[in-house]
This record gives sequence, structure tokens and C-alpha cells, in this order.
Amino acid sequence: MKELLLSLVLSYLPYSIDTNTQEFKQYVSDLKIIELEPEKIELEICGAVGACNGNYTFAYDDKTNIIHVPKSCNLEEYRCKAALMHEFVHVIQNYTGKYTVDASCYDELKLEVEAYKLQNHYLNTVGINFGFISNRFSQYFLAHCLLQEASKT
Ligand SMILES: [Zn+2]
Repeated sequence: MKELLLSLVLSYLPYSIDTNTQEFKQYVSDLKIIELEPEKIELEICGAVGACNGNYTFAYDDKTNIIHVPKSCNLEEYRCKAALMHEFVHVIQNYTGKYTVDASCYDELKLEVEAYKLQNHYLNTVGINFGFISNRFSQYFLAHCLLQEASKT
């Protein structure tokens, strides 16, 4: 499943990656998908249970190359599959060196938008309106970055 979804994700992304190298194959085989209680993921990412999107909150840890998936999410279900594909975008971003912790808020925003766009695109192809990305997403994150900057000064 990993390989199949990754090649699907790669076909959408504007990255040209040689997937036949030993390095890439090793990277993909090292990639782990771990199921956790949704509450645990929420606590780690959003700081509180119920603070993010519950069942649809996934997370990628670039330091360990692990995707955390909520246990209750059935990966055959479109929304869960789309969320997993979102994390695969981060996996590829990490491989190409674009995913860095030190990135500015705006750089992070670009990475997230790329991932959300693909998530949205996939959901569109199966007839689901993701909605969130449409116009409010970018504004939301932009506001988040502006607020972060303002609080530093
Ligand atoms: Zn993301």
C-alpha cells in the first residue's frame, strides 16, 4: 500500500525524483506507518484532546520518518486515505530536503498548502468536497504567521 500511494502522490507533485535509486527504496522501506489513539495524536499536535480534527488528524515525524495514523481511521475510507496522502507529501518533501523544522512560518505554509492541495485534489476526484482548502485555508495560515510575527516584536 505504501508504494502504491506514494507513486500516486508523486504523479501529482511537481517533483522529479528517481524512485529507482537504492537511497529512495531504502527511505520508503524505512518509512513506518503507526496507528495511535486519536487522542494521543491530538495531544501531541494540537496540545489538547478535541483541539484538532479528531479522527482525521494525522502526523508525520520527519526525524523518525514515521506517519502517525489515528487507529479509528479506516484507510480504505476516502477521507482517511486523503489524509494519509497529505502526510506522504511531507514524506516526499522531507526526502527532497524541503521539509525543515527551522523553516519560517511562511515556508511551512507553502509545504502545508502543497499537501492540502493534493488532499483536496484527491477528494475531488472521488466526489468529496473538502471545503477547507478552498479559500479560507491560506488566509487562516497567513493570519497564523502574521500573529506569530507580531507576538515576537
Ligand atoms: Zn501537513
